[in-house]
Amino acid sequence: MSSATHPDCPPGPGAYVVAIAITAPLAVRLRNAVAARLRPGRYLYCGSAYGPGGLQARLARHFRQHKSIRWHIDQLTTVGEVLGAWAIAGGDECELVARLGFLPVPIEGFGATDCGHCRSHLLRWPSRVSARAIRTALASGGEAPVWLQASATPGFRA
Ligand SMILES: [Zn+2]
Repeated sequence: MSSATHPDCPPGPGAYVVAIAITAPLAVRLRNAVAARLRPGRYLYCGSAYGPGGLQARLARHFRQHKSIRWHIDQLTTVGEVLGAWAIAGGDECELVARLGFLPVPIEGFGATDCGHCRSHLLRWPSRVSARAIRTALASGGEAPVWLQASATPGFRA
């Protein structure tokens, strides 16, 4: 199955923050089989892509709705609406979590199974927090985040 890479996505490896909106309560499952519930709203997932295909391949996967469930975050991107993503060439996912530390943690341990220090790689994005505030926080390390608009959501701009 091929998937188109986003025209604005930087080539090579890096870190990213995917923005997802869910419109109904969503039960998600962690690797230890504990189920948790996400309420409707917006969420941000911090990840990194240092394998083959880098950011382009990984974000194309996150933007694709139909796929097998491999990572925790797939439970959101297959059901919710992926709004888009900020990509940072050469970035570090845990550093991005730290920069977004003012956001609430919805589920302890989500996406952080292999990470020894973050409480979660998934954060809740309350409606009172603007996209500009997220962008500014992500840019605080110096690298400029590149916003990748998901094609399915023409009304959303970050
Ligand atoms: Zn981490």
